[in-house]
Amino acid sequence: MRIFERLDQLYDIGGGPGANRPHPSAAEDDAHRIAATWLGEAGLEVAVDRHGNLYGRAASGEEVWTGSHLDSVPRGGRYDGALGVVAAIEAVERVGAGSVVVFRGEEVGCIGSRALVASGDFLPHAFLELHVEQGPVLADAEAPLGVVTGIVGYARGELVVDGRAGHAGTTPMAGREDALVAAAAEIQRVRDAALAIPGAVATIGHVEVEPGGANVIPSRVRMSLDVRAPDAERLDALVAGVGFVPSYRVEPARFTATAPDALRDAIAERGLPSVELPSGAGHDAGILASAGVDAAMLFVRSLNGGVSHSPDELSSDEDVLLGVDVLADALARATTP
Ligand SMILES: [Zn+2]
Repeated sequence: MRIFERLDQLYDIGGGPGANRPHPSAAEDDAHRIAATWLGEAGLEVAVDRHGNLYGRAASGEEVWTGSHLDSVPRGGRYDGALGVVAAIEAVERVGAGSVVVFRGEEVGCIGSRALVASGDFLPHAFLELHVEQGPVLADAEAPLGVVTGIVGYARGELVVDGRAGHAGTTPMAGREDALVAAAAEIQRVRDAALAIPGAVATIGHVEVEPGGANVIPSRVRMSLDVRAPDAERLDALVAGVGFVPSYRVEPARFTATAPDALRDAIAERGLPSVELPSGAGHDAGILASAGVDAAMLFVRSLNGGVSHSPDELSSDEDVLLGVDVLADALARATTP
């Protein structure tokens, strides 16, 4: 079928293993070029804005957009971003209303959608993004599709633990101030702070030990912090619980207007289970929602334990086709005055 052939075609662009279309790259450009030909074949009016984002407009109802991104992480999966684009082309062609949008550089900080919002250029009334879940929630709930309630907010910073350096052989255990031993307790404490708040996560992904000698007691440990929560209140509580001053913070985005109802109605009409979940990853839909666009996201069930950003990323053909049907149905609802 066309949608699966197109996913294969995009997947092959950067050479294997996995998807290799980082932003910026010739591979991302190639993907946009191929998508532009698909938009033309669908009878849509093709345009590129000054930020490099690609559009395909149907004759009417262009105030509702649907789409995603075509860049990938190195050795990424077949579905992340690409599925939202090929599904959007199917939906807009089928419905004959709305616009397909392909944003640049989502994986490196939503470059294209942020630039669009910051530029003050035209924004749509509503935006629908279909995306793979990239997690196990829908598979565990035995639901093929889910409606996303919002994008978690996150804060980043650093934890520093000080101790006292000394000779690893001549300093007795009793009198030591080993910064890494203290850091181990801190890591456990950070985990407990996240466990105490529903929906919160906290990760220490990078640790630096000073002075870093095999025969020297560590004098200082610097640890990266990445903490996330579904709403501002919980993010505040998490930052306070972990006890750090964020160097960077992105506010949570909520999908609270009417576009999510179009997805809910389309799902309910098919008798599918109704599952709602927050997204732990950032998406272009979150950027648009924060700018006041009536945004909504439809997640398609991820298999293989929900693995993503990996060639092992997988969704079933059946779930993909169901997702396209629901997206098209929701687009028809959202574009009907
Ligand atoms: Zn993505």
